[in-house]
Amino acid sequence: MQDNAIPHPDNQWRENDISIADLSDEPVLSDDGRRELMERKGGDVMNKKEQAMVDDLREQLRIAKALRWTEKVEPDVPIPESSYLTKGFLCNGYNGDVVPACSSRVSHGYGSDERTGTQGARALYSTRLLALRAVRHLVELKVAKVLADVDGRIEKEVAGVSGRNFEKIVCNIRDAREVRDSGGYGCGLYASSIMLDGEQGLRMQEAVEGIRPYVDEHYWLPLFSFGGQTDFGTPVRGNPGRLDNMREPLPCWSVFNEGHVTSAGDISLCCFDSHKRWVVGNLATSTFMQAWNCQEAQDLRAAHLKKDVTGTACEHCAIGG
Ligand code: SF4
Repeated sequence: MQDNAIPHPDNQWRENDISIADLSDEPVLSDDGRRELMERKGGDVMNKKEQAMVDDLREQLRIAKALRWTEKVEPDVPIPESSYLTKGFLCNGYNGDVVPACSSRVSHGYGSDERTGTQGARALYSTRLLALRAVRHLVELKVAKVLADVDGRIEKEVAGVSGRNFEKIVCNIRDAREVRDSGGYGCGLYASSIMLDGEQGLRMQEAVEGIRPYVDEHYWLPLFSFGGQTDFGTPVRGNPGRLDNMREPLPCWSVFNEGHVTSAGDISLCCFDSHKRWVVGNLATSTFMQAWNCQEAQDLRAAHLKKDVTGTACEHCAIGG
């Protein structure tokens, strides 16, 4: 066996087994080619099982060679400034296609280097090789995004939160960012997280790093009691805002400023309402404003303004206990 041969776990390699160097240099072999190779090496002809092992190693090597990162490749044929038609190639990072293309000052042709039929001018790649290198980089980015999502799931699994749910959240935020940026919409994207203590807090901070690249701002919140509905940790009273700028819990801004509509059409006065304790109406039976200004809502707001929410749905949140 040569020094650089790869031993198989089954320990079935023999004196004349071929090496990794052989694998990288040799093309895929037919039965005749296999026989010829082994004769050249002065050994026996490989049986089918041995050939399958060699094929498997060759495939592993092919994949291993593909695992590398390349530089971004910019188009080198600029958009024409006159009515002149430029010719070259375009590529598609989603399916890996590279096709002939052309571009005028206002439109481009995808799949044709003679006719434009699609709106928007495009800078092109002058050669197919350049476009192939460009598409490789784009596919690398696509794969890297998938890997980043899997990493996020792993991080969340470690933190004890469903990886699948967290990945979905990150994907939704990332998609929102893409839609906002590509559409030129003038809105902000914000994310907030509760500052937990101890090891869970450290894990939370790691998880937030997976979200931060996609939002304009991320900020921390104190540990709420979620409307008096949780019993862990030492929560703050009410919903006093951001951790670095907390305010008095009463009156609570939620009942005055923040209407919530659930997927079932319920209209709630509290951002923590997972048990329908602050629901004041439903869009199936009233308008939003009718529910928002109903007597029950007015009474709760009056209690907040008096800073005495005893006996209301907010009692355990804003007063505690
Ligand atoms: S339960 Fe009441 S006080 Fe607490 S956050 Fe909701 S609306 Fe505000």
